[in-house]
Amino acid sequence: MSDLDRILVGQSESHLASFDGGVLVHREVVAPLRLLQERAERDGVELKVASGFRGFETQLNIWNQKAQGKRKLLDSEGRPLDFQKLSEDEIISAILRWSALPGASRHHWGTDLDVFDAKALKKGVRLQLVPQEAAPGGPFAEFSRWLGENLLEEKFFRPYSRDLGGVSPEWWHISFEPVSKPYFEKLSLSLLEKTLAATELEKKNLVLKRLPEIYKKYIVNITQ
Ligand SMILES: [Zn+2]
Repeated sequence: MSDLDRILVGQSESHLASFDGGVLVHREVVAPLRLLQERAERDGVELKVASGFRGFETQLNIWNQKAQGKRKLLDSEGRPLDFQKLSEDEIISAILRWSALPGASRHHWGTDLDVFDAKALKKGVRLQLVPQEAAPGGPFAEFSRWLGENLLEEKFFRPYSRDLGGVSPEWWHISFEPVSKPYFEKLSLSLLEKTLAATELEKKNLVLKRLPEIYKKYIVNITQ
């Protein structure tokens, strides 16, 4: 597998740099992210990154724990589900609404980040990154609006801004388009298939069987 292929599926870290001595991001995202942060600062917003790069193994652990019922599963509205009552197909769909398939997370690329406004978070309130925080009256309603108005200026966008029936909307998830778009276009169904076939993925056979549908509904189904 080429290094580019390994980057696409989260099995390489050769493309990463640390941002402000902390979170790992794609090295070509460091400067644009700083510009975005400066733009935010001018508007009184303290833009912070809650999560940047996430590798294949981390995503695999999340997946396997959920698929084994060791981590809670939610329905598409965010209500807890009873693991015992779900079919294997339902378990897979429930995971995919909220968590990426290992190998298919945009966080593998370092181009995609979860962000929040540190100033808007009141003392003692825990950051959750849930839709309600950006609802009217929520702590990040104003920040989410700010993102909508300013991201494009720095070539960022939100791939999960609306509910397209796949991944649940994520107002906090931003992506640096000049780098993520070429990656997005190169992440093929066959690369994913080859990657997953060689790993210890829970429910692997069913996932591989459903992969064309999963690819269409949860991976390439984004707001551009
Ligand atoms: Zn994210």
